[in-house]
Amino acid sequence: MDLYSGHINKLIAELAALPGIGEKSAQRLAFYIINMPKDRVDHLASVLQEAKNNVKYCKSCYNLTDSDICPVCANKNRNHRTIMVVENARDLAAYEKTGKYEGVYHVLHGSISPMLGIGPGDIKLKELMERLGQEEIDEVIIATNSSLEGETTAMYISKLVKPLGIKVSRIASGVPVGGDLENIDEVTLLRALDGRVEL
Ligand code: ZN
Repeated sequence: MDLYSGHINKLIAELAALPGIGEKSAQRLAFYIINMPKDRVDHLASVLQEAKNNVKYCKSCYNLTDSDICPVCANKNRNHRTIMVVENARDLAAYEKTGKYEGVYHVLHGSISPMLGIGPGDIKLKELMERLGQEEIDEVIIATNSSLEGETTAMYISKLVKPLGIKVSRIASGVPVGGDLENIDEVTLLRALDGRVEL
């Protein structure tokens, strides 16, 4: 028997499908939303749609941005000859928060995972290689996570990039195994970057 109205059940199901939100939190959020003033609910709905409709990939690094080129790539003061390869835009944000990295990025939007059936063609790897073929690059810093998938991806990229004669390095371990970069404090991130080793 359904305890709630069909509409509320639908709302709870959608919220529960979001990452990190369990059934209990989904119920709490659903009831909170139902009790919000109508104009706030309308605003929330339109913010969601606007974000989805207007956020796109940076044409150069595939960071999420409102314009064709993201602010990092558009910044002439950055070192455009050093590319840090990260798994997602949240990892990029974590490094940007340190304020110490002066190069640019490439966002893969995932990592290679044979277990989950995610291959090299499913992440923005071809796009990285195209970029390396077109731009003058001194170093590629691989900052994928230290999970099995992150390490697999790092090895794969290194094998592709090294023959191009471009220096390839990997951020130092010390980043906890399986740890998402975004959850790691800035000091640890900077230590991992400074202690990077050439592959
Ligand atoms: Zn960019």
